[in-house]
Amino acid sequence: DVQLSDRVQSIKPSPTLAVTNRAAELRATGKDIIGLGAGEPDFDTPEHIKEAAIEAIKAGFTKYTAVDGTPSLKKAIIDKFQRDNGLVYEPNQILVSSGGKQSFFNLSLALINPGDEVIIPAPYWVSYPDMVLVAEGKPVFIETGAANRFKITAEQLEAAITPRTKLFVINSPSNPSGMAYTLDELKALAEVLKKHPHVMIASDDMYEHILWTEEKFCNILNACPELYDRTFVLNGVSKAYSMTGWRIGYAAGPAKVIGAMKKMQSQSTSNPASISQAAAEAALNGPQECIAEMLVSFKERHDFVVEKLNSIPGVNCLPGDGTFYAFADYSEAIKAYPGVENDVEFAEVMLEKAGVAMVPGSAFGTPGCLRISFATSRAKLEDALDRLAKTLG
Ligand code: PLP
Repeated sequence: DVQLSDRVQSIKPSPTLAVTNRAAELRATGKDIIGLGAGEPDFDTPEHIKEAAIEAIKAGFTKYTAVDGTPSLKKAIIDKFQRDNGLVYEPNQILVSSGGKQSFFNLSLALINPGDEVIIPAPYWVSYPDMVLVAEGKPVFIETGAANRFKITAEQLEAAITPRTKLFVINSPSNPSGMAYTLDELKALAEVLKKHPHVMIASDDMYEHILWTEEKFCNILNACPELYDRTFVLNGVSKAYSMTGWRIGYAAGPAKVIGAMKKMQSQSTSNPASISQAAAEAALNGPQECIAEMLVSFKERHDFVVEKLNSIPGVNCLPGDGTFYAFADYSEAIKAYPGVENDVEFAEVMLEKAGVAMVPGSAFGTPGCLRISFATSRAKLEDALDRLAKTLG
């Protein structure tokens, strides 16, 4: 029998992909399943972006590129940071990767030594802890709850920092909670971080554009420019432009670490797909109206889903600030359901009985909750919520 590495045995497969696979299996047996597990927009990639990729293929732009991305895509990213975020970067501070997932993976491998601590507020994107574990780091979780809108406080951050803390991860708006930190909240966190210069910061801005708060999007660097020399901003085109399959993400930050991440990438995947880079460039440089159109739909669906969820006995859902997820507290519904002990079992029962696939909150470090993705048609959402209401009513 083959002995697998300790490294691979220290992690688990992505639970969100697992839910999607389980739903597909049941569907294959003829069951009528509505999948609300996947974290991707249901819209098609906008036409002008697809056109740019087709042009790239026709022009023979189908070879290796620079490992860290083409100069023209890096310029488009630098322009985007300036235009949208008021942040200034040089080309050697930018690394383009095969999806936002690889950006964080590179960062973990370039930064973390065995035993280094990485502070991750829960609920968190499922991949952070496992990528930290691959790098032999130690994830340190900060728990939150609905009472503080699933956000950490400055006091909690202060209490979590130790001399071993290497990195603090902040994701706003958050997958899965849908909550965004306000500028004032970020300022309070930044005050703590200013006192601990050994702590680096990763700001995952992947959902920047899927936000409907009155306050415009801001990240920790907007709140505190002083943190520039130890902050990485991670972003990508996957969610904003409905480009999950193209696999383009990017990181910006201190040149030394970005260079180390590039070295890691040069010995693993090399450049992200040339054609996808051409498409991403068109996305960032082209008309931005497509984002606003998708946002209108997401907000409408959000309002519908939150209202419906709250009408189901034992389910409590706070309205979110953005993203396409509704993260509701089902603890009362779980308690009331015969034979069900926790959110994982509850998700299984809802899949079997209601034919609705959702991701249990435990996967995100917050048991008792479940995540619904509303990046699907209104008709499917209505059907899914009717089924849940019937099963739980
Ligand atoms: N960051 C967050 C918070 C996400 O939810 C995701 C995708 O689910 C990513 C990063 C990575 O996106 P991708 O690798 O598809 O570009």
